[in-house]
Amino acid sequence: MKEACGVVGVVAPGRDVAYACYDALYALQHRGQESAGMATFQNHQITVVKDNGLVSHVFADTTLRALAGSMVIGHTRYSTSGSANWTAAQPVYRSAGESGFALAHNGNLTNTAALAESAGLHLTTMLSDSDLVAELLGHAVLEGATLPEALHDVLRRAEGAFSMVILEAGAIHAVRDPHGFRPLCLGRLGEPDAPEGWVVASETPALDVVGATFVREVEPGEMVTITEDGVTSTRLLEPAEGPTRLCIFEFVYFARPDAYLMGHQVHSVRRRMGERLATSSPVEADLVMGVPDSGIPAAEGYAKASGIPFGYGLVKNRYIGRTFITPDQAQRAAGVRRKLNPLRDTIEGQRLVVVDDSIVRGTTTRALVRMLREAGAREVHLRISSPPFVWPCYYGIDTPNREELLAATHSLAEMREFIGCDSLAFISMEDLRTAVEVGDACCDACLTGNYPAPTPVTIGQSRAHW
Ligand code: SF4
Repeated sequence: MKEACGVVGVVAPGRDVAYACYDALYALQHRGQESAGMATFQNHQITVVKDNGLVSHVFADTTLRALAGSMVIGHTRYSTSGSANWTAAQPVYRSAGESGFALAHNGNLTNTAALAESAGLHLTTMLSDSDLVAELLGHAVLEGATLPEALHDVLRRAEGAFSMVILEAGAIHAVRDPHGFRPLCLGRLGEPDAPEGWVVASETPALDVVGATFVREVEPGEMVTITEDGVTSTRLLEPAEGPTRLCIFEFVYFARPDAYLMGHQVHSVRRRMGERLATSSPVEADLVMGVPDSGIPAAEGYAKASGIPFGYGLVKNRYIGRTFITPDQAQRAAGVRRKLNPLRDTIEGQRLVVVDDSIVRGTTTRALVRMLREAGAREVHLRISSPPFVWPCYYGIDTPNREELLAATHSLAEMREFIGCDSLAFISMEDLRTAVEVGDACCDACLTGNYPAPTPVTIGQSRAHW
């Protein structure tokens, strides 16, 4: 599974904020490594810089110095919809309105065909859902709507997941879809009684890195507007019935461990998942180890609850970017070796409990188990901190078709056999919800099949039909 995207917006009167945006994007790099971009506003003009590659590759010091202005939005992208080439990098710019506007989107719309048709547009592979929204907003603005009016008109008809930041002359708008699938939070620069600026970002570490204090999460359906005069909140869209539907995989895998989501630090949640796994699926072993990165805190929790020592058995190469992510099965398995290498001295002759966050196709897990055995592991007991992944995601996470999901087509015994481990156990849905604490307020459709919002195709149907 790959993360969707990361978005940022910064307003700080009297300051050039491109450097702050750079730091915030750098903190969100894990959410997308395919492209990065920024849009700043100064002198009645919006300037966009974006390119394929990591944040540090796209922005040189000279570029950042040239990006003057006290308002900026930024984006890191992993493509889940539309093309993965340069034209799909964000922010997306449209020239409609006083200075035009720029838009950065995290999520995936599920009714793009209907939206495009409503405006007489033809969907092509070059037109991402973010491009489509920008196009529709541009039409509305050219017909005389203000940008907030256009946002209301377009987004009330949009289905699916979106956390967006939009920059126009003198303002940044931050909008979250009525279900709140993707995270979005608001932070303040300076003291409460004398704010020096405001930041919106996908995750709280992006606030921390720029010295902003977390204020609150943007609510589902809310639009937060930031100008040089401060922050205002508008109920742009009716929130969906029922609780928020933040993606539960933000807790399991996507978000940084130091992020706070719905009041809970992700690292602590992952430890609790491991504790639950130790209680529900105990095994006699010598060492508990996690698969970096998100498996580590869960492994710590498993070790604490089981009393089995915790150790680091795998070293991760942290310098692998999108270049090395290749699509076919054989290469995916080979990719495990590029990314992870076992610590032979630690694992040789040991009975291992290996905690990982999920099993999708099973090919990388199988390669991992083989690697551990070749390094001398005596037994490998896999413990997975999410329940079996049996349905595709339609809300912005890149998952394979249902027939490629190992758990959708294999029994537990068949999965164990395919992976080649000595025992295999998953956390239960109930235990996951308990560990997350706000699990009842999360989307878990890929685990349960309970999709909280319309899907673009019949559930389970191949992506080719989308
Ligand atoms: S379907 Fe799964 S991956 Fe997609 S938003 Fe829901 S919980 Fe997250």
